[in-house]
Amino acid sequence: MTELDLVVRARRVITEGGEPARCVGVAAGRIVAVEPYDSSLTAARSVVLEDDEVLLPGLVDTHVHVNEPGRTEWEGFASATRAAAAGGVTTIVDMPLNSVPPTVDTGALAAKRAAAEPQCHVDVGFWGGAIPGNTRGLRALHDAGVFGFKCFLVHSGVEEFPHLTARGFEEALTELRSFDGLMIVHAEDPDVIDGAPAPRGARYDDFLASRPRGAEDTAIAQVIELARRTGARAHILHLSSSDALPMIASARRDGVRITVETCPHYLTFTAEQVPDGATQYKCCPPIREAANRESLWRGLADGVIDCVVSDHSPCTPELKHLDAGDFGTAWGGISSLQVGLSAVWTEARARGFALADVARWMAERPAEIAGVRGKGHIAAGHDADFCVFAPDAVQVVDAAALHHKNPVTPYAGATLSGAVRGAWLRGEPIDPARPRGRLLTRAGAAVGASEAEWRKM
Ligand SMILES: [Zn+2]
Repeated sequence: MTELDLVVRARRVITEGGEPARCVGVAAGRIVAVEPYDSSLTAARSVVLEDDEVLLPGLVDTHVHVNEPGRTEWEGFASATRAAAAGGVTTIVDMPLNSVPPTVDTGALAAKRAAAEPQCHVDVGFWGGAIPGNTRGLRALHDAGVFGFKCFLVHSGVEEFPHLTARGFEEALTELRSFDGLMIVHAEDPDVIDGAPAPRGARYDDFLASRPRGAEDTAIAQVIELARRTGARAHILHLSSSDALPMIASARRDGVRITVETCPHYLTFTAEQVPDGATQYKCCPPIREAANRESLWRGLADGVIDCVVSDHSPCTPELKHLDAGDFGTAWGGISSLQVGLSAVWTEARARGFALADVARWMAERPAEIAGVRGKGHIAAGHDADFCVFAPDAVQVVDAAALHHKNPVTPYAGATLSGAVRGAWLRGEPIDPARPRGRLLTRAGAAVGASEAEWRKM
């Protein structure tokens, strides 16, 4: 048998078979054996988890806005990946906006890679962007290794990333179908939003009324029908309106290739609880009512919602207009990368879910949907990426102590269940002083420099 570099023993290991006590053997950065706890496996380095700790696969967060280059004061690769590691997230996939340039052509992708390369503490992949006028360039971005393409059906919030019209969306989907690319969609309908009252002022209810469920539901219906017509794969980002769940389930039964994610904030907060003027809660689509939140949890239980990812979308405190508390002018986006696991676990355990469920939503399924190879499972052949989690520990979130670049988050002061005690990347503990993260390409993409390195392992 291969000589091992590392053996990790834990009383609870999240694996295919549940949460058994296991001994995990690692060689050259990959898991090579998962055996009973008392197995005689030995290695140069041996680690035994404390009795209150669980070994989870490193989480895979496929929805992170790093904002570098161009808006590095909002976050950046160094701070984002440090926060990710501290939160048990060992792989992120970066969104194609709000960096400048946005990742809408191969030159912009090269700029992203150059910015990220020297400073990542976790592995990082990239989404491309589909905007008006770049349909013919999508194939080249796909070949360059992006995991898929993000588009908006409504104004994105930044001028340099315009949204697609219905016709442009269908054209882009048709193009993606030709190479089986994945389209990930911000699904809100601009006509419904134009017809709703404009967001202004400090009252949360007014902001909520400006982004009604109907805007999401209408746009999702359109995504479903165009995915059905073109045969392309589509993924609904940050689902907030639970009213859309029945039609998503029905489309899937018909064989439409559609998947869906939601986010920790929709599963944690409720509109009823958001204080007026508290723009740290502003995001689009918005946090909705308590009954909607419970329906989202049922969507996870039923398997209609595939996964939970952060949509970490920070900005500077100034742009949140915290003094004025005006939901109309504040930047929309919630900062949560480092606390997502504990936030979801807190709410999940209260509803009777197991840690294995959380690992499926936050590691396994995001990796599968995006095509992030070798991630998301504790199983032989996968990267030895681990999150050491103490599920019964209690933490009170101190926003200033998080690694996020800006200390604005609606989780500030929240009491959460579970603490991340460590994160491992390819068989070594992540050291905040020594960035070892690699740049990832989609399974099946042309082999670039990072990929060649991956294969050598
Ligand atoms: Zn986003």
